[in-house]
Amino acid sequence: MSNYLGIDIGGTNTCYGIVNAEGEFLYENSIKTESVESIEDLADQIYNDVKKKADFVGIGIGAPSVNEKTQSIEFAPNLNWGDVVPLTKIFSEKFGMEVNAVNDANAAAIGEKSYGEATEMENFAVITLGTGIGLGIFINGKIVVGSNGLAGELGHTVVRRDGRECNCGNFGCLETYIAKDGIVRTAKEKLEFSSGGSMLNNISPSDLSPTEVFKSARKEDPVSLEVVDTVTRDLAFAISNLINILDLECVFLSGGISKNGNLLKRKTEKHLKAHVLPNLRDKSLLKISSLNEKNSGILGAVASIQSKMAVLIN
Ligand SMILES: [Zn+2]
Repeated sequence: MSNYLGIDIGGTNTCYGIVNAEGEFLYENSIKTESVESIEDLADQIYNDVKKKADFVGIGIGAPSVNEKTQSIEFAPNLNWGDVVPLTKIFSEKFGMEVNAVNDANAAAIGEKSYGEATEMENFAVITLGTGIGLGIFINGKIVVGSNGLAGELGHTVVRRDGRECNCGNFGCLETYIAKDGIVRTAKEKLEFSSGGSMLNNISPSDLSPTEVFKSARKEDPVSLEVVDTVTRDLAFAISNLINILDLECVFLSGGISKNGNLLKRKTEKHLKAHVLPNLRDKSLLKISSLNEKNSGILGAVASIQSKMAVLIN
């Protein structure tokens, strides 16, 4: 049986693991993405770590803003390794084996389809909530790649005309409101204008995070509840648009922010009821991915290299 190396490059952490054919992890580790200077540096660090751990025959990589046709990261707003990063080329030169790169949200969706709760589903989406906002879509059992290999940039759909400036150069993008920095910014704005006290005032501004906001909201902190309400309403707008356009069986939430579980799901579902078309309401499920963030990303990357190598062998 063959093992594979799966790598999930995120804006905050890069997680990787050696996985066997059954999807079991033989080894896993992670690196802070900010500490990596270039894609060559990343390939070197992972190579030096995994070379003596277990053998593997191919590498799958999930990363933000991957163009699956060119196999490069192109203009990633949340990574600092240059405009065009030739991901597959660098890794295949370093490791001397077959490499396949997919968009990180597509990797999460492929992971859900191969190893998660979507194995029987034909039409579903996975939204990754973290440093950025990603989207992987399966329609009629196939992942949607798009004519330029760039489908699924949900984070850069505009939700406010003349809204917040985004790293992509546009204004009012969804991720400036519901990704990590967007949630913290909303919390700071609401704190500034709130007359009453808030538990969030006890946290130093540099430590403020979505986790802290959700934690305080669970304790009924009024400012935190307001932030969670705003965030889940914007998320519900995006999800209801997807359901109304694509008639999806299920939307999975994945990524760091999705670990705020029940509160995130419950509030988002409340707002969804108002915006999903009546004849689609209650037919489309909202679920928190049962594969945790790094697992679905790594497993999806592994599934993508497995299927690429199967095509090459046949
Ligand atoms: Zn944007």
